[in-house]
Amino acid sequence: MLTRIMSATILDGRATRAALLPSLKERVRALKHVPMLVIIQVGNRPDSTAFIRAKRRLAQELGINEKHIELPVQVSQQEIQKTIEALNNDPMVHGIIVQLPLPAHLDSDVIIEAVSPTKDVDGLTTFNMNALAQNKLGVMPATARGIRELLAFNKITIRNKTVAVIGRSKMVGTPIAMMCKAEGANVVVGHRETVDLIGVTQKADIIIVATGHRGLITSAHVRPGQVVIDVGITRSADIGLVGDVDFDAVKEIVAAITPVPGGVGPMTVFALFENLVDLSV
Ligand code: NAD
Repeated sequence: MLTRIMSATILDGRATRAALLPSLKERVRALKHVPMLVIIQVGNRPDSTAFIRAKRRLAQELGINEKHIELPVQVSQQEIQKTIEALNNDPMVHGIIVQLPLPAHLDSDVIIEAVSPTKDVDGLTTFNMNALAQNKLGVMPATARGIRELLAFNKITIRNKTVAVIGRSKMVGTPIAMMCKAEGANVVVGHRETVDLIGVTQKADIIIVATGHRGLITSAHVRPGQVVIDVGITRSADIGLVGDVDFDAVKEIVAAITPVPGGVGPMTVFALFENLVDLSV
């Protein structure tokens, strides 16, 4: 008997984004004004600079105005809050991104909260997080929105599926879990304290991993038919960007998987601009 072993469908974030881009460009053209996005960077971490470059490139491609404010690494809490306040009050500015992570002397929670919820394209303010938790209209955190759209475009439904979200950070794992709940999934969250991670991932239809722990999800964590979404990004000196999933081993077992790079990352950036256009109407 001939047994055919099929490798997983690759959920290509770049291709999905390219397919969705024309309709977003159309929405930008239909606006009465050109939106303005401001990105605040503190210091010059190379990874932040690379992420900002990707955002600025997409802004230019969409015909959106963007401004990059570079603050010195030793900027005070008060100074950065003053900068945000001025942008909140500037009617020409439609979206504000504070590039994370911030240096340790700054209180990230307070700084994120300083952004007006109506300009919060990252969707990270308490107002917008609460909206997501209560299934109300708000700005969805960009990573969660990007994943939702990557799945929808690739005809993978979340409703009534068991989704294991591994990672429960305030900025990434938690909003992803909330989005899945809002979409009608049965959500299980795994984290650093979870003893039987394999038990959690094996039961899921969809596994979404956002830990920053390179190679955490191995062939032992998965079974045929599952969808694996890898949010993690680790920059390694030997092979560049890598995710939380042992891609080569896992793709031989599951039904669909995102690569790193080129999976969730491009969709997160795309979702930022969808949020910006929503806020610019
Ligand atoms: P974080 O360090 O704040 O949180 C990590 C979470 O993972 C925690 O909840 C922790 O409990 C859990 N975790 C860590 N090690 C674990 C382990 N061994 N087993 C189970 N759970 C474990 O990180 P974060 O800010 O949430 O980011 C997570 C990852 O997502 C990072 O690699 C980050 O670079 C990446 N990220 C990617 C995108 C994207 O668009 N692709 C966007 C944002 C963040």
